[in-house]
Formats: sequence, structure tokens, C-alpha cells
Amino acid sequence: MDSKLDVIAEQVKTCKKCDLCQTRTNAVPGKGNKNAEIILIGEAPGRNEDKNGEPFVGSAGKRLNEILLDAGIHRDDVYITNIVKCRPPNNRAPTKNEEKACLDYINEEISIINPKVVCVMGNTAFNTLLEGKEITKNHGSFIEKDGRTYFVTFHPAATIYNQKLVDELKKDFKKLTEFLVDNDKEKQYQERRCDFCMAKTKHEVLVVPKIVTKKRRWLYKCTQCNHERWLIPYRTVAEGLY
Ligand code: URA
Ligand code: SF4
Repeated sequence: MDSKLDVIAEQVKTCKKCDLCQTRTNAVPGKGNKNAEIILIGEAPGRNEDKNGEPFVGSAGKRLNEILLDAGIHRDDVYITNIVKCRPPNNRAPTKNEEKACLDYINEEISIINPKVVCVMGNTAFNTLLEGKEITKNHGSFIEKDGRTYFVTFHPAATIYNQKLVDELKKDFKKLTEFLVDNDKEKQYQERRCDFCMAKTKHEVLVVPKIVTKKRRWLYKCTQCNHERWLIPYRTVAEGLY
């Protein structure tokens, strides 16, 4: 059975909701992992994408691959799409009307995949989805909107002739992976009395030794005063581990 994303891809391929349908060779639906934790959103297909019907396969795509590799992200693990799905003639920026005509598709893609973070790359995506301006001032930041987490960064094409921006983009993507790793870690707490502030309160377990024995200490942090110390865990907590 076709997934909901396949249905959208089919609709995109035959879509005539704006005039870009008259000049395109192929419409370019989003592509990638349907269970992705990250959606990457660019602007619009370029010449190569228009020819192949796939997003980010030209020079911007090559740069994107390089950045993903550097951040330890596999292209197979993400979902990649664009604000408008058809190439604007001569690679001009899409108009507000074109963006509006195409907006339902991106909103549906986001809601079906329901990723942990939506990464907007470049001013068009930033402006369309978050009403943002000036990527140079906002890149590298997380934004919460309507219960979703967005991450703002440069468009890979903007970095093609600018090594400084390549480094910035790499840094941003590392930040994005760190966020996903942090997000994955379930924090563990234990109720203890802090011998520093004396409050009986939750203590976050920061370090559990690789091999747990009755005598090995764990690192705890008091959530009241942030004091950290190594302590032998309560027997009941550790027992299951040795
Ligand atoms: N630039 C984009 O914004 N999207 C693509 O798919 C290719 C280049
Ligand atoms: Fe349809 Fe979007 Fe292509 Fe316009 S750009 S024809 S709205 S798919």
C-alpha cells in the first residue's frame, strides 16, 4: 500500500497549483527516510533537480552530503525536501504566491513524518515557515513554534564559494546532532539527601561506572544546589545491575 508520503509525491508530480508547473521538467517531491528524526528543508529545485526529479542532487546536494558526513549524519536517515517543489526559471527565488501555493505539501510532510527537529536551510525556508529574516544573525539557533522544534541554518548553496560559511554550516550541523543525542538520553534521578545543601531532593545520575559493583561510586548531581559528588548508590537501585 502507498504511504501517505507516496500519495503526496504523486500529487506533487502532477500538481498545477501555480505557474511553475508550466516551466518545470519534473516536479521534485521530498525524498528520504519516512521515520526521519530530521527534516531538511531547502528553497526550490535547481537545474539538476528539475532534470532528475530528486531534491539536492546538484552542487548544493554535494555540499550537503559533505556537511552531513562531517556531522555523522547519514543521508539515508534524513528526509529532504524544498519549500516549492518546481524549479523557478533561471533559479530565481520563488515568489510569495508560489510559496503559498505549495505550502500545504510541506506542512503535510512535516506532520506525517513528525520529526524531532525541522531544519530550515536558508532565507526562503526560514521566512516561509518561521517568518524569519537574516539567516546570518539567526543561524545555529533552535526555535519552538506550535509545539515543534526548528533549527535554523544556512542554505548549502550559499557556502559554495565561501569557505568561512562552510565552517559555520559544519558547526551548526554538529550542534544539531548534539541536540538529538541529548534528546535521546533519558535522564535518571534518585531521591537522596544532599550533604552540601542538606535538602532531601532529586539527584541526577551523571555517571554510572561501566562495571557496577557494590563498592563502585556513581556521580550524582543535586538538583537543588547543583553540587556534584561520587556516592555509592542505594542498594535497591544498583542491585539489578550486578
Ligand atoms: N537548492 C535547493 O534549495 N533545493 C534543491 O533541491 C537543490 C538546490
Ligand atoms: Fe504545485 Fe508547488 Fe509545483 Fe507550484 S511549485 S506547481 S504548487 S508542486
